[in-house]
Amino acid sequence: MPQKSFAPGATGRITIDLGTIASNWKSLAERVAPAECAAVVKADAYGLGADRVVPTLSAAGCTTFFVATLGEAQQVAALTKGARIFVLDGLVPGSGAALAKLGGIPVLSSLEEIADWRIQAKQLGHALPAALQVDSGLHRLGLSASDVAHLAQNPDTLEGCDIALIMSHLASADTPEARENAAQLDVFKTLLAQLPAAPASLAASDGLMLGAAYHFDLVRPGYALYGGQAYQGEKTPVAPVVQVTAQMVQVRNVPAGGSIGYSASFRAENAMRVAIVAVGYADGVPRTASAATGQTGGVVAINGHTANVVGRVSMDLIAVDVTHVPTALVQRGAAVELIGPTVPLDEVGAAAGTIGYEILTRLSPRFERVYLEPGEH
Ligand SMILES: *Cc1c(COP(=O)(O)O)cnc(C)c1O
Repeated sequence: MPQKSFAPGATGRITIDLGTIASNWKSLAERVAPAECAAVVKADAYGLGADRVVPTLSAAGCTTFFVATLGEAQQVAALTKGARIFVLDGLVPGSGAALAKLGGIPVLSSLEEIADWRIQAKQLGHALPAALQVDSGLHRLGLSASDVAHLAQNPDTLEGCDIALIMSHLASADTPEARENAAQLDVFKTLLAQLPAAPASLAASDGLMLGAAYHFDLVRPGYALYGGQAYQGEKTPVAPVVQVTAQMVQVRNVPAGGSIGYSASFRAENAMRVAIVAVGYADGVPRTASAATGQTGGVVAINGHTANVVGRVSMDLIAVDVTHVPTALVQRGAAVELIGPTVPLDEVGAAAGTIGYEILTRLSPRFERVYLEPGEH
């Protein structure tokens, strides 16, 4: 990717390859056919910009979107025509009237939410679309087995709800050998059998890799669309989407015994050459990517040469060890890869003790966002 200079005032650049988001969606859709492939675009499309990502996915053929909140549903509705929009946080108190007006589909996860939606439908005088979420073992959101039994015995409870989907969510789908997967699959089937017939969905990015038994009628990937490789089995058939770069603002020598950064947590054993990069935790570089003496923290790259973070990550700056990097590449203004071909997203997460999901969704507005249109590379 050509390295143009940064927009004045930007802390760095996030390059988002929309064509690859489209081809990732198509690749997953092919893999799960005849099941439908939806797209999860919550949290501003995992930090990448729903205003650009959603139209790209629509153009690729995606007609079902999942968001977390009412505000996100309103944004997706404005960006699409006739798309189905599921709201994963469900019927948050106070959101019902606006959600009904929008035609959004709440993922109802408790008998209280079902009762609220039923009242909303009654007030409007017509049925409203809804999804039901059952808890198959994650113990996050979802109707319990006894809630499902109650619904089975009292079908009137669902009056006014047009059930568009019955879904559940897996706890350990990234680990193919985890016992929870098959156990949750069994529980899900048992609960489905007690509910009115409706399309079903269990799998997100990793669940869809567990095989056709997990696909049901619809899969709901998010992270994989954005190039994430969280699945610990075979490689997910998607390509990287995001590159993040920032720039060096100073290069300096640190003498043997000198400390680097706050609290002097890192001490140079030998003389070192260090580049100071204008990016920090306010930009979304986790402070847990810091490296005290003898530890490894975050890793960046300069023209394909990796360099370790040394010392504490500050709010706006990090220090990286460039002692071994060819001197011609190490100069004020040089581009530093934070995420990209040399430093994959998932490794950035792991090096900071977190996951790529958190890295993506915390990249700050101080970065300029540059979009590559489909066909443009
Ligand atoms: C976020 C989320 C997804 C998407 O998960 P990925 O791992 O990003 O594919 C799917 N379903 C539910 C219920 C979610 O909360």
